[in-house]
Amino acid sequence: MMGDTLKEECGVVGVYCQSGKAASLALLALHALQHRGQESAGIATSDGVRVWTHKGLGLVSQVFDPGRPPDLPGHLAVGHVRYSTTGSTRIENAQPLTTSSRWGYLALAHNGNLTNAAELRGRLEKEGSSFVSTTDSEVISHLIARAGDPTLEGAISLAMGELEGAYTVVLVGGGKLCGFCDPYGIRPLVVGEFADGYILASESCALDHVGARFVAEVEPGGLVVIERGQLTVHQAQPPQGTAGCVFEYIYFARPDTVWRGRNVHQARRHMGRILAREHPAEADVVVPVPDSGLSAAMGYAEATGIPLEIGLVKNRYIGRTFIQPEQAMRDFGVQAKLNPVREVVQGRRIVLVDDSIVRGTTSSKIVGLLRASGAREVHVRISSPPIRFPCFYGIDTSSRGELVAARLSVEEIQRLIGADSLGFLSQEGLVEALGLAREELCMACLDGRYPTRIPREGEAGRQALEFTRRIR
Ligand code: SF4
Repeated sequence: MMGDTLKEECGVVGVYCQSGKAASLALLALHALQHRGQESAGIATSDGVRVWTHKGLGLVSQVFDPGRPPDLPGHLAVGHVRYSTTGSTRIENAQPLTTSSRWGYLALAHNGNLTNAAELRGRLEKEGSSFVSTTDSEVISHLIARAGDPTLEGAISLAMGELEGAYTVVLVGGGKLCGFCDPYGIRPLVVGEFADGYILASESCALDHVGARFVAEVEPGGLVVIERGQLTVHQAQPPQGTAGCVFEYIYFARPDTVWRGRNVHQARRHMGRILAREHPAEADVVVPVPDSGLSAAMGYAEATGIPLEIGLVKNRYIGRTFIQPEQAMRDFGVQAKLNPVREVVQGRRIVLVDDSIVRGTTSSKIVGLLRASGAREVHVRISSPPIRFPCFYGIDTSSRGELVAARLSVEEIQRLIGADSLGFLSQEGLVEALGLAREELCMACLDGRYPTRIPREGEAGRQALEFTRRIR
């Protein structure tokens, strides 16, 4: 999926390293999580008393000098890569965020989106908190800093009791590294162990890159604390079941990541097999939209016996910062990033496999590119069900009006994108492919069943906190 896509939300990492290489390990991990956000990157470290921060706009390799280790001392680190879902792209909104507290400075990095951030922020401002960013993440810092509990663990637990929506947070403060997840476990957080420390990360692929062994996933409502080499696990809030985001499997996570015992590549491949069963096609080649359509296309080709071919090549070196959230840049992005292989495409009946359709503009451009290169037929197969509802948990689909499947039927979308046929994976097929119970998954953008209370129309969206600030 490219261009007019769902945007990844954020990636977080936390490191406890007795030998003091916390910043270097956090940096390695951030490189592994780069696909989750390309607008800003940052690391904050601590020696238990002082805090150092380096962050900036752009890719990890633009913010940190690739030639030398970060000049950030301390045995504790948190890091963040960001795609803005609340708050626009500016340096004040880059994370980690630091806030003073009775435990000294807290440095915090957040993945997800709060659904009651504006409400909480209004209250905190009345109580005297002053905010430097327009992110919902700063609301979490302030709530923890002001919570009426003498221990950091207790304060986090009290703060979690007030938060609604999706949050996976890593934080250093008071000589501790903490990681916690909302009571639905909407976004992932895994714990790894290495020779002289621990790592917390949004995805297991980051553990592999720093040579850490997988230990556990932070459970819904769970809080892990690492202090003086000891890891403790708390149930900070009662779990409300599990509602893991299905788009982690469909699109966001890297194929080598494992979440809840499911490898992402294998899950996608299985989605492709079931998609083939549900929507077969008479065709000569299966062509994936690179890169995220590849695993599902492999599954589709396996199930049908139609050969898999590289019919579209991605221009990798254009850089993902080029793809900005604004529509004008999205439109430009598709042509700049994809090129058909004419020798594969010409005269062929093609099954084009992609992971999702958001607004429909990208799909119609790709179908147009293939036809312009001589494709005889283009049958589009999508390895997710139609996205009909907005996400309030950190994915940039802020209103239903933008979602083509909320307005049009499958036949109408087929005509809009100019395909010879169009088939989406069914919701049942998706659940079957994941091998998890429906009750363990968030599929709200597909079926409208939100696991939490959601904001009223017009209150959500990436500018919500900026709006509340303007009207004051
Ligand atoms: S609404 Fe959709 S994208 Fe958002 S968390 Fe749920 S499944 Fe994921």
